[in-house]
Amino acid sequence: MQRLVLVGGGYGNVRVMNHLFSDGLPNDVEVILIDREPYHCMKTEYYALAAGTISDKEVRVSFPNHPQLKIVNAEVTKINLAEKKVELKDADDVSYDTLVVGLGCEDKYHGVPGAPEHTLSIQSIRKVRHTAQELHCMPSGSTVSIVGGGLSGIEVASELCESRKDLNIRLYDRGERILSTFPERVSHYIQEWFENNGVTVINKSNITKVEPGYLYNNDEANATNAVIWTAGIQAHHLVQELDIEKGAGGRAIVTEHHYLPDHPEVFMVGDCAYYDQAPSAQLSEAQGDQIYKVLKARWNDQPEPKLEPIKLKGMVGSLGKKKGFAEFMGKPLTGRVARLLKSGILWMYRYHNG
Ligand SMILES: Cc1cc2nc3c(=O)[nH]c(=O)nc-3n(C[C@H](O)[C@H](O)[C@H](O)COP(=O)(O)OP(=O)(O)OC[C@H]3O[C@@H](n4cnc5c(N)ncnc54)[C@H](O)[C@@H]3O)c2cc1C
Repeated sequence: MQRLVLVGGGYGNVRVMNHLFSDGLPNDVEVILIDREPYHCMKTEYYALAAGTISDKEVRVSFPNHPQLKIVNAEVTKINLAEKKVELKDADDVSYDTLVVGLGCEDKYHGVPGAPEHTLSIQSIRKVRHTAQELHCMPSGSTVSIVGGGLSGIEVASELCESRKDLNIRLYDRGERILSTFPERVSHYIQEWFENNGVTVINKSNITKVEPGYLYNNDEANATNAVIWTAGIQAHHLVQELDIEKGAGGRAIVTEHHYLPDHPEVFMVGDCAYYDQAPSAQLSEAQGDQIYKVLKARWNDQPEPKLEPIKLKGMVGSLGKKKGFAEFMGKPLTGRVARLLKSGILWMYRYHNG
């Protein structure tokens, strides 16, 4: 029996499992999925969970059920490449013949003093629950500062503004205009939405320090009751701890077939892997598709398949429950249509993942 171990049941490894259990898995392969959570969590919806506009249950999806799959619900503490095993907290090590690492990412604080200790996070389900709890309990009139005007910062700010109209929400963005990688028309639409809905956007900001009760922008103290950090991510610390070559954000450099150059038995998927595109759930899934093709070729003693560079359809974001923005198939979209597109993508994801 060969053992395929999947570490982290996020978008990348869920996609790998979808293929394994529907397209084909040899009888002599045992699959072990290890995750600290007992279900797959839809991270793309964490902004709504943080804001309290959806329930916890709405971001959970059951892991697949298959006679050749064993699920280990435990915290991974180390990936031991030399001994080909995964070490767990309070559980036995799990050895592997083939490993797919999909542990996702963590906040990157860019060395800003006080940021790790004094900011709220939306990067894991447990941290989002804590963030939500803090936000729900804030007295009326409190100020909530969101650092980072990228997709997730915008989604958190807009959703929170619909959920808690009694809060002062401030969004600190580094760029001259919000979401500067998107077409200007989209940035203006988002800016206008924020103005109309009472969210203050502070452009050209540079957060230099965080203290309890204060956020320092360009060294100037701004009073605040809570700070949510959405200003950067990096690969999971267990990947950063590996003695391997890494790219930006501590992501593992992989071959075009998604495995470590010196460890062809170890694949990296999603936010853990370095790729020439920004990390996203969409990219993780596309990598999962390709990893399955490589595994299948290996099991059939075939040469490595030719893999095309991954092309994504675009990015879609929400502005509360009714409006949205997108750059989809090369076209900018704003308003109700973009929001419907986002809801449709989520619906399809839920439909295909039970
Ligand atoms: C608010 C927000 C909105 C987003 N919106 C979009 C969007 O609209 N479109 C898009 O494409 N992307 C979006 N993203 C990005 C997307 O969510 C990530 O790129 C994607 O989740 C990465 O998938 P992954 O497979 O790498 O791992 P993840 O989906 O992050 O899963 C990692 C898994 O590893 C597990 N894990 C972590 N550490 C351990 C450990 N030590 N032991 C055991 N298990 C562990 C976790 O429980 C989790 O199940 C958004 C992100 C955020 C935060």
